[in-house]
Amino acid sequence: MNDIAKLTLKAHKEESLKRFHPWIFSGAIAGIDREIDEGDLVAVYSANGDPLGIGHFAPSTIAVRMLSFDTGETINRDFWLKRLSAAYKLRESLGLISNENNSYRLVHGEGDNLPGLIIDVYGDTAVMQAHTLGMHNVAGLIAELLPEITGGAVQAVYYKSANTLPHMADVEVEDGFIFGNNSNVNVARENGLQFYPDWKRGQKTGFFLDQRDNRALLKAYADGRRVLNMFCYTGGFSLFALAGNAEKVVSVDSSSKAIDLAVRNVALNFANSTRHQAVAEDAFRYLEQIEKGAYDLIVLDPPAFAKHRKVLHNALKGYRRLNTIAFEKIASGGVVFTFSCSQAVSREEFRQAVFSAAAAAKREVRILHQMTQPSDHPINIYHPEGEYLKGLALYVD
Ligand code: SAH
Repeated sequence: MNDIAKLTLKAHKEESLKRFHPWIFSGAIAGIDREIDEGDLVAVYSANGDPLGIGHFAPSTIAVRMLSFDTGETINRDFWLKRLSAAYKLRESLGLISNENNSYRLVHGEGDNLPGLIIDVYGDTAVMQAHTLGMHNVAGLIAELLPEITGGAVQAVYYKSANTLPHMADVEVEDGFIFGNNSNVNVARENGLQFYPDWKRGQKTGFFLDQRDNRALLKAYADGRRVLNMFCYTGGFSLFALAGNAEKVVSVDSSSKAIDLAVRNVALNFANSTRHQAVAEDAFRYLEQIEKGAYDLIVLDPPAFAKHRKVLHNALKGYRRLNTIAFEKIASGGVVFTFSCSQAVSREEFRQAVFSAAAAAKREVRILHQMTQPSDHPINIYHPEGEYLKGLALYVD
């Protein structure tokens, strides 16, 4: 670790690192032995001079994201190969990768001991996002390793970091292919259903893979039900409701671009289906105007209402209001799938908001399932911040 900068912590600030928490906050740092740039590697030492590991530096609140707690580790091609292979092997061992399901998250940041890096795979194309300059600096190298670690399955890598790198970072990045070039219209599969992942224009990497298990669960509840999929985006839940024999499915999103994607994805799987309808409309406005009892399965999967704890109060009010209207409107014997993807909102706080909503709507509500993110979005046990998706499947009498 001699050829890289040495960062020393203030006294007693090594405790969280000894419990393998991968972040060092700026206030914990006593000093760095030389001038360094954002994204550089630093070797981290306690105030007593004990080596603690190695990480990527950034001049921000989270000043270091740890890559390794092995003080003998060298961060080179072999290191990235080892980490990426471990991530791929985990997905393979989960039985996630098959012809029927060729879409999965290959790298989930801290959950794969690769803080600052997200890689989603859609068939032969990987979509990669760097959230730190440290990861940005090795993006080319990582992209080149992906075909190797996936046994040739990944043939092209689209780099989509123009909006994920820190604003202060002094880099100009354009989204585009950095390895191979898949200009074909790419169709990917989730549990047997097809969709177009739109990494160019879509949100995040183009498709929300984190709802895979919950969509599969929804399919089991869809038979004969009239389904309302609020905040549908690319229509993931709608596809599985249709596959589960829903009587009808209405997909609602305020973005007409999202509605176009949902319509395209439905047509890809259910040509000429008369069971699906898509509406570009604000969710609250739509819910207000529907009749009571018009639907017996409602999905509420809104965007993160709270990006940080400061706006928590308003976010909880938002969840309460949204869920209250859904409880008021759903038919007797109906099921509500309700979610929060706000990392800042805890599982307990979300459940409390839904509880208040049920009471406000004066409905009898029972919890059938407690949902979370799927196994290709693993949560590092030392980094509880990695848990963000929470959901409840509720039976409403
Ligand atoms: N359920 C989706 C993901 C939802 S992402 C899936 O399974 O893939 C959140 C979506 O909410 C986005 O598509 C966004 O356009 C939409 N949205 C945001 N605010 C909205 C509002 N007020 N009314 C309706 N849709 C909204």
